[in-house]
Amino acid sequence: MRPGDTVVIRYVRDGVVRGARPTRYVGSRSGYDAFWLPAGTIVANPVLADGAPLRSVPLEQRFTAERRAQPELQLWRGEGILKLIPDDGAHSVWIFWREDGSLWGWYVNLEARHRRNGRSIETRDHVLDLWCERPREWEWKDEDELELAVEHGFVTPELAGEIRAEGERVARRIERWEPPFADGWEEWRPDPGWPLPVLPPGWDAP
Ligand code: MG
Repeated sequence: MRPGDTVVIRYVRDGVVRGARPTRYVGSRSGYDAFWLPAGTIVANPVLADGAPLRSVPLEQRFTAERRAQPELQLWRGEGILKLIPDDGAHSVWIFWREDGSLWGWYVNLEARHRRNGRSIETRDHVLDLWCERPREWEWKDEDELELAVEHGFVTPELAGEIRAEGERVARRIERWEPPFADGWEEWRPDPGWPLPVLPPGWDAP
């Protein structure tokens, strides 16, 4: 991969592509590859049967409301984010900035170990997340959602245990302020000459 190359990050569950985001490869630091997802990029998001976002229903219905088999193409709203994907780890770290360009925080998305295949990276969302807004401080996100995911058979109790353990490992890195948090990525800015990345043909092929 060279800086500027388009790489698609795909979320797959039960052999079906549930979501996909085209990004540009930026570079690597401390065993993490960085990928830029600019505002206005067309991404594929999972939606409910009626096309509404998953989070439009109350939490209790999150895993029972009928979902559309195919994800829906939508604009990536808000500011661009930088996704840091580890060579070896069941998570990714997303850096968010505010509209004025100041750093908002680091979002740790717990997800399956990544399978890299050329310009495609595959993973599966693990529901539970962490949020870090200041160095060495963090909080869980969506703990209640992981419990429901287990209840409804989306996640096995064994996997839920592994997910929490991975979250704890990343939390210790935040507390010690280690990479990828201490790698200065928040100072990075995209090449203004880069056009928006585009989902390539076959992005939804299992
Ligand atoms: Mg998540």
